[in-house]
Amino acid sequence: MGKAFDIGLERLVGGGVGEPRNNEAARLADSPSAAGSGTFYLETFGCQMNEHDSEKVAGVLLARGYRQVESADAANVVLYNTCSIREKAAQKVFSRLGEYRLTQREGQTIGVLGCVAQQEGEKIFSRAPWVSLVCGSASYRKLPELLAQLEAGNRRVTGLDTDTDETFETEVTRRDNPWRAYLTIIEGCDKACSYCVVPFTRGPERSRTSASILEEVRQLADAGYTEVQLLGQTVNSYADPSARKMRFSELLVAVAEVPGIRRVRFTTSHPRDFGKDIVEAIEAVPAICEHVHLPVQSGSTKVLRGMARTYSREEYLEKIAMLRAAKREISLTTDLIVGFPGETEKDFQETLSLLDVAQYDGAFCFKYSPRPNTPSLKMADAIPEEEKSRRLAILLEKQREIQRARNEQLVGRELEVMVEGKSKKEFQWSGHTSSNKVMNFTSRAQESLGDYVQVKVMGATPNSLVGEKSETGS
Ligand code: SAM
Ligand code: SF4
Repeated sequence: MGKAFDIGLERLVGGGVGEPRNNEAARLADSPSAAGSGTFYLETFGCQMNEHDSEKVAGVLLARGYRQVESADAANVVLYNTCSIREKAAQKVFSRLGEYRLTQREGQTIGVLGCVAQQEGEKIFSRAPWVSLVCGSASYRKLPELLAQLEAGNRRVTGLDTDTDETFETEVTRRDNPWRAYLTIIEGCDKACSYCVVPFTRGPERSRTSASILEEVRQLADAGYTEVQLLGQTVNSYADPSARKMRFSELLVAVAEVPGIRRVRFTTSHPRDFGKDIVEAIEAVPAICEHVHLPVQSGSTKVLRGMARTYSREEYLEKIAMLRAAKREISLTTDLIVGFPGETEKDFQETLSLLDVAQYDGAFCFKYSPRPNTPSLKMADAIPEEEKSRRLAILLEKQREIQRARNEQLVGRELEVMVEGKSKKEFQWSGHTSSNKVMNFTSRAQESLGDYVQVKVMGATPNSLVGEKSETGS
């Protein structure tokens, strides 16, 4: 849901994102086109990439002199960053826009960003005539220009091109977490899974140069960030566009070697491009976190073919075997879809049996949702909604028991945790392990958020670990 902050440019500049960045923010804020007194409210819905896009959008607006406020009521510009991956998410957009209409003030601009903006385009203006800006993620570079057009009196503006080879890099990202920084290294997707809107809403794959990624990581480390999460719809399909041609696994190592960086995460990996070199990088470099998110979607080769996933059940299981044989214990998570057109009971049973073999530490499970423009929309043998719900419930229950058993195996172990939260209950803290498990733990010390401590696992639930800070300390 929406993140709301009211911070000035000083916070951004003082946020310690490095000298060149500060100068750029100051230069943009001083520019004649700066909005000065403008305020914006930004609400975000959807995946981590949307959350991070919003951080970048906020950075761009702050650098233009806008101020971020905590409620739509207080804003001159209301921006809604949307998701259309499943029908329910897309439906929510128009009901939310309806709510904005009720509270819209005279002269207030309402803009739609993200996947629904790209998918629906100018149709949004007819369905919600109170909206005046529609911009998809592949056009975010144009946002300052679009806002300037609105400031100049234009009633309606759009940014809807996807035929770009540019990535949305900005000197002035406004980051929401003081220790963990997200960094998009590859945008868009060329994979064309038959059920998925992402190739239409985010455009073709475009990678950032390794030099610009590493420069940003150095600035982040200087600013005090210790964890970096590299993002991409298929992050491991990264293709360095510079002459250096750094491989994804080399990039992981290079990021982990930046002084001050203690944890490197990456998501989402596509099975087809997941090679031994990535496992070797994790084995060799402790700062690369021992967690891989490798969506399988289905355990049936027939369904995988229908989904155009480009691998079979057997090929996927070979990747799992490679990960399980690694010298470090790597936790594994996945995404699964039930009720894809033509999925029989036998296909579904194959998904269940794949869970037995893969032994995932976590899974995001979804009912298939038909999406506009996608090839699977026209496929025969749709599965009734009740049957999808039945399969989903069985899948969730099975995965829950697997997680409980896997987490229980960790009882007695000592794991490193980044301290991320303090509970209202005295002496209770929480954070994540390198394997990305949530740890709720007891410590009588006054912990500092962002620190790393050793915690002994005392108990387990399907979704988290319970621990006590070790006597050996941090
Ligand atoms: N790029 C990533 C990948 O290939 O795994 C993730 C893309 S998507 C944001 C996250 C997940 O949403 C997918 O892995 C898939 O399980 C699910 N998803 C995508 N389209 C869907 C659809 N039409 N119906 C149900 N689930 C869907
Ligand atoms: Fe969608 Fe497939 Fe691309 Fe993932 S790899 S974003 S599921 S098309």
